[in-house]
Amino acid sequence: MDYYSTKITALIEELSRLPGIGPKSAGRLAFHLLNLPETDVNRLTGAILDAKHNVRYCRECCTLTDGELCPICASPARDHSQIMVVENTRDLAAYEKTGKFNGVYHVLHGAISPALGIGPADIKLKELMVRLQGDVNEVIVATNSSLEGETTAMYLSKLIKPTGIKVTRIASGVPVGGDLEYIDEVTLLRALEGRVLL
Ligand code: ZN
Repeated sequence: MDYYSTKITALIEELSRLPGIGPKSAGRLAFHLLNLPETDVNRLTGAILDAKHNVRYCRECCTLTDGELCPICASPARDHSQIMVVENTRDLAAYEKTGKFNGVYHVLHGAISPALGIGPADIKLKELMVRLQGDVNEVIVATNSSLEGETTAMYLSKLIKPTGIKVTRIASGVPVGGDLEYIDEVTLLRALEGRVLL
């Protein structure tokens, strides 16, 4: 990429660090950005910085949100005794889009992976255990059906069972290794309805 100015090369390099963006797309994006009016560029960088500075973890469920509590945790219309555990905020959004789950969530921000050196202390497990001291009837484990997701589900089951709280796992049928956010709503609902005791 020596044939571009160093500043363009630097921009392309930064863009190609983004997930799903290869060098070709990064180049296209870089030139698109350079052609934008400055007000558009300011709006984009402003939105990135604003999100970065103001988005934080919900005090209850650890999802990413603007306020202290996310709208779901703040809602009295939701069943706070039913907690669905997901790996990330995008998985929460996938279930939320179905509009059929009336409980609340807990976002782990990852999954246990001995191979990658990610242990229970590296995800939001402690925060979940604190919540379970409240009035909780069921924990639905909706981690992905990848090795990491299954490892996390087993760990959660062992951890929660002694508390006497019901622990269920969403049904398989969710493709192995499939990220929840890419699965269609019907499959998600079937997985939720077909959940089994862990
Ligand atoms: Zn929340």
